[in-house]
Amino acid sequence: MSCIFCKIISGELPSYKVYEDEFTLAFLDINPVNPGHTLVVPKRHVTNIEAVDEETLCQVVKAVKKVGLSLKKNLGVAGYNLGVNNDPVAGQVVAHLHFHIIPRLAGDGFKLWPQKEYGDGEAEAVFAKIKI
Ligand code: AMP
Ligand code: ZN
Repeated sequence: MSCIFCKIISGELPSYKVYEDEFTLAFLDINPVNPGHTLVVPKRHVTNIEAVDEETLCQVVKAVKKVGLSLKKNLGVAGYNLGVNNDPVAGQVVAHLHFHIIPRLAGDGFKLWPQKEYGDGEAEAVFAKIKI
């Protein structure tokens, strides 16, 4: 077992456990964007959001909501960003599905992604390909 998050789940590696239940573990990110930055993971090793079964995903999202409420109530932050880097091209370094919960402070300088504009016909073309 080489996955560092599986090692955290098993207790082989230490972590600050913010929340735990049968399906999920939430622990502090070791290099936070802001204090309280928490990762929520399924206890079952799955690499990404396509690999996780829906029941487990629902449990993870429920845990995300619980941790978010705790951040708001106990850190006094007014909001937070949720993020999943899904696959290496998207910046996923640890290949065990995890939700980042990033507390936001006014003026903290954390920047969201830059945005572009669609060229002529580009929105229609991509829409036709991905519409479910
Ligand atoms: P990602 O780039 O989405 O895969 O994010 C992986 C996150 O895991 C990074 O934000 C790291 O700071 C965090 N991380 C790596 N090792 C540990 C660890 N041992 N304990 C807590 N967080 C960790
Ligand atoms: Zn794992």
